[in-house]
Amino acid sequence: MSWDNGDIPDKYREHYSAPYKWSKLLAVEVQDIYDGVLMYKCPGCSAIWSRFGNRLIWEGGKYSNEQWGTIVNKAIQSYLRSKTKG
Ligand SMILES: [Zn+2]
Repeated sequence: MSWDNGDIPDKYREHYSAPYKWSKLLAVEVQDIYDGVLMYKCPGCSAIWSRFGNRLIWEGGKYSNEQWGTIVNKAIQSYLRSKTKG
């Protein structure tokens, strides 16, 4: 399986090692919201980025179910913003 989505920006590279490609991050889908990848999660530190806008929405580490809900909401908001921008 390949999730190559281009290079990881310099500011996020502390979360991963060479060759700094998104391809080895975990892809997270949220059923009924968006039919595809909504977020990427670092398998090392659990930092999470929104696919849309590439925003860091979780700094890493463990999260509660409630925090997971906030993370999903942020990813959805990024997706909706990207849709209205066209
Ligand atoms: Zn990381």
